Amino acid sequence: MIKIYLKSTQKACVMSEFIPFALPDIGEEEIAEVADTLRSGWVTTGPKAKLFESNFERFIGSSVEAIAVSSATAGLHLALEAIGIKPGDEVITTTMTFTATAEVIRYLGADVRLVDIDPLTMNIDVNAIRQAITSKTKAIMPVHYAGLSCDMDAIFNLAKEFDLKVVEDAAHALPSSYKNEMIGTLRSDATVFSFYANKTMTTGEGGMVVTKSPELASRMKVMRLHGISRDAFDRFRSEKPAWFYEVIAPGFKYNLTDIAAAMGIHQLVKLPGFLKRREYLAQRYTNRLKNLPLILPSSALEGDVHSWHLYVIRLKKYSKFTRDEVIQYLSDKKIGTSVHYVPLHNHPYWQERYGLTPDMFPQAEIAYQSMFTIPLYTAMTDHQQDRVIEALLELFSG
Ligand SMILES: *Cc1c(COP(=O)(O)O)cnc(C)c1O
Repeated sequence: MIKIYLKSTQKACVMSEFIPFALPDIGEEEIAEVADTLRSGWVTTGPKAKLFESNFERFIGSSVEAIAVSSATAGLHLALEAIGIKPGDEVITTTMTFTATAEVIRYLGADVRLVDIDPLTMNIDVNAIRQAITSKTKAIMPVHYAGLSCDMDAIFNLAKEFDLKVVEDAAHALPSSYKNEMIGTLRSDATVFSFYANKTMTTGEGGMVVTKSPELASRMKVMRLHGISRDAFDRFRSEKPAWFYEVIAPGFKYNLTDIAAAMGIHQLVKLPGFLKRREYLAQRYTNRLKNLPLILPSSALEGDVHSWHLYVIRLKKYSKFTRDEVIQYLSDKKIGTSVHYVPLHNHPYWQERYGLTPDMFPQAEIAYQSMFTIPLYTAMTDHQQDRVIEALLELFSG
């Protein structure tokens, strides 16, 4: 009797359980590797961080150098520092991003030029970039929104024409590709990935910078750890005692721990499988929601890979529900959602510093008012996804 009772409540619990919009997918392999790290006595940056970096280099390919860091924010900061961004410079990025993309520009005393998005892809509008270029512009930071690649050829052409650097914020784009090339192997100065808890793979907190430039890589490695020059150390190793090191700049503390890297080693192995699952779930959403009065996310162009980090839906212009009503309805059905993003020009800091108004970003405003992100994560079951699909079908066809 008791057994049956327990079973049925457990089932009821599963039926009505809350579905978050994202969830990490961590298995026994990660747990065992972390435990091994803890037992080894070496918990900060060491052999596992090194192994994670070399595995990541192999995964991305095209002889990039990978530099493990404590977050993508740290990686973006290091990349901009290494390309020489300084006070008085301007860097162009999209308003439809997380504040980390822009704040690192301010860390260096440079100014942010936010621009509008392309309404189809929700990626940075290349014509808007052109219009924002001034004599102070030094770099462009494209963000591959939701995991869909930006129009990189157009961005590289602009960068060439105006002699600008390019640092890709690829926090959503692991793994994504553009014209059959992995994001991370293009012509940018540096590309930065995130291993934050809700990203396509996680180390709890963490990030990776990749670059093809040995000079940038060596600057970022020095600045990642207090400005201590390993080169100087290695060069004189034979003559200097083991305790000797030299500080060549006031660097940062952005190294990744071996505890985090231990997770990363196994998450990376699982990444191709994670991508397959995300592609499957995204395709399933698209197939089953396509007849509703909704704007579903653009899929990748031929030759591109979409990482499907996020599945962002927009309401059509004369929708019978507001975005907030849809979010409330889904929340009542125990379905988590999010909004990616409150555009940067709507946040007090960015608004006040640059005197920004919504009419300067008409496409981002339309998107913002109508958008919501529905659950998409690898550990999501088909049954859980059915609950999300059925809730939306019921709301819009009822
Ligand atoms: C998550 C995210 C970041 C920051 O990543 P962290 O690893 O948390 O520092 C930067 N840019 C975008 C677009 C992001 O989504």
